[in-house]
Amino acid sequence: MATDVLIAGGGIAGSSLAILLGRQGLAVELYERSRFPREKTCGEGLLPAGVAVLGRLGLAEEAGGQEFVGVRYHSGGETVEGRFLTTEGLPQTGRGQRRFPLDRVLFAAAAATPGVQAHAGANVSAPLVERGRVTGLMIDGKARRAGLVVAADGANSLLRHQLGLDRPPRGKRFGARMHFRLAPHAGTSEWVEVFLGGGYELYVTPLPGRETLVAALSSARSPDRPLEEQFLRWCREHRGLAERLRDSEQVSQILTARLGARARAGVRPGIVLLGDAAGSPDPITGSGMTQALVSSELLAGMLRPRVPALEGRPPPVPPARRARFRDARGGSPPPPVGTGGGPAGGPLSALHAARTRPARTPQAPAPLPPRRPRAADETPCVKSRVAVAGLPSSAARSALRAACGDPPTASSTNG
Ligand SMILES: Cc1cc2nc3c(=O)[nH]c(=O)nc-3n(C[C@H](O)[C@H](O)[C@H](O)COP(=O)(O)OP(=O)(O)OC[C@H]3O[C@@H](n4cnc5c(N)ncnc54)[C@H](O)[C@@H]3O)c2cc1C
Repeated sequence: MATDVLIAGGGIAGSSLAILLGRQGLAVELYERSRFPREKTCGEGLLPAGVAVLGRLGLAEEAGGQEFVGVRYHSGGETVEGRFLTTEGLPQTGRGQRRFPLDRVLFAAAAATPGVQAHAGANVSAPLVERGRVTGLMIDGKARRAGLVVAADGANSLLRHQLGLDRPPRGKRFGARMHFRLAPHAGTSEWVEVFLGGGYELYVTPLPGRETLVAALSSARSPDRPLEEQFLRWCREHRGLAERLRDSEQVSQILTARLGARARAGVRPGIVLLGDAAGSPDPITGSGMTQALVSSELLAGMLRPRVPALEGRPPPVPPARRARFRDARGGSPPPPVGTGGGPAGGPLSALHAARTRPARTPQAPAPLPPRRPRAADETPCVKSRVAVAGLPSSAARSALRAACGDPPTASSTNG
C-alpha cells in the first residue's frame, strides 16, 4: 500500500498525529530517532485542553499523571492564582506527568494503530525535494516517499533548518529541569507554582508518587558557576519552595534546552511543520504539549476529506474561547483572575495580574468533585501551533490539497 503520510519525530506531536491519521484510514510511517522511554527537557504540566485531547485519543487513563487545578504565582512575598475554567460547576484540571512514561504511551499507541508503521531508533537525515516540492524523507540512508511529509522533529527541527525555514530565536532564554522525590513530611501542591526571581522563573509541577519537577527559565546563565549549582541556589531563594524541597531526593540529572525556536513558515509544498518544529512557545505559558496535541487534531481534521468521515471530530473553537489563547502570545489584557469558580484567565493572565493588581491571599483549593466526560461545547481554548507559526489556514489547505495530488499554489509556498 502506498504511504499517505511520513512523519519525522515521534514525540507528542508526531505520535498523536500518527494515531489520528491511522484511525482515519491513512497509511502512515512514523520515524523517531530515540528509543522509548527517553527523557525530554520539559516542565511536564499538561493544561486541561491537552488532557482533553488525551481523553479523545482514549489515552488519558493510561497516560496517568497528577491533577492540578491551576497556576499559582509567587513574587516578592505576594501570591496570585489562576484557577482553570469551571464548566457546569465542575472544575477542569491539568496533569503533571513525566515525559518518560507519557511519550512512551503515545508512541506505543501509535505503533499499535492499524495503518501506522512506527520506527524507533530511525534517524531522519534530510527531506527529499523534487521540482520544488517535498516528496519524502531520507531515513538512515534510504529514501521514503509519501503524499505528505510532516516535520514533528521538535524545537531543533533538522527539517525546518534544511528547508531554510529557521528564524532566529528572540533573546537567549534557556530552560533547565530536575526532578525531586519529596520527603514524607513535605506538603504537596494541587497547583503548578511559578516563583518569580531576579532574572529567572522557577516552574514547579506536581507529579505522581510524591515527585515534583522544578524547571528554571532564564536568560542569565552564570559563566563562572555550574548550572546545577545556580539552579539549586535559585530554589533556595524562595522560602516556600526551599521548605518543600527540604530533605527531598534529587531523582534526575539536570537537563537543559535552548528556548525560543521559531519558523519563517509552517508549510512548504508537500510538508507541514507541526508542534515545536513550527516554533515553540515560551514554557512560561505551559502550553507547548497542549498546542502540539491540539495542532495534531486540527491537521488530522484538514486531511479528513481524503478519507471516510470519522466520528468524534472536535467542534470548531468558539471565538470567545479562542480569544483566551491570546494570553499565550501576550497580546491581550488579561481577564480577571478566577474567583468563586468563574472563568479564570490563562497562566499569563495571572502573571500579568501579579504585576498589576494588589496581592491576593491564596485560598485552600476546594476538593475535586468526580470527573465526568467533556461536553461537546467544551472545546479546547488553544490555537493551532501551525497558525502561531504564521500559517494562514488557506495556505495550509492549499499545501494539503497539493499533497493530495493537485499542483502546489502560490499561497502554499509562501506559508
Ligand atoms: C524547559 C521547558 C519547559 C517546558 N514546560 C512545558 C510544560 O510545562 N507544559 C507544556 O505543555 N510544555 C512545556 N514545554 C514545551 C514542550 O516540551 C514542547 O512544546 C513539546 O515537547 C513539543 O512536542 P513535539 O512533539 O513538537 O516535540 P518533541 O517532544 O521535542 O518531540 C520531537 C521528537 O522528534 C525526534 N527527532 C528529532 N530529530 C529527529 C530526527 N532527525 N529524526 C527522527 N526523530 C527526530 C526527537 O527525538 C523527539 O522525540 C517545555 C519546554 C521546555 C524546554
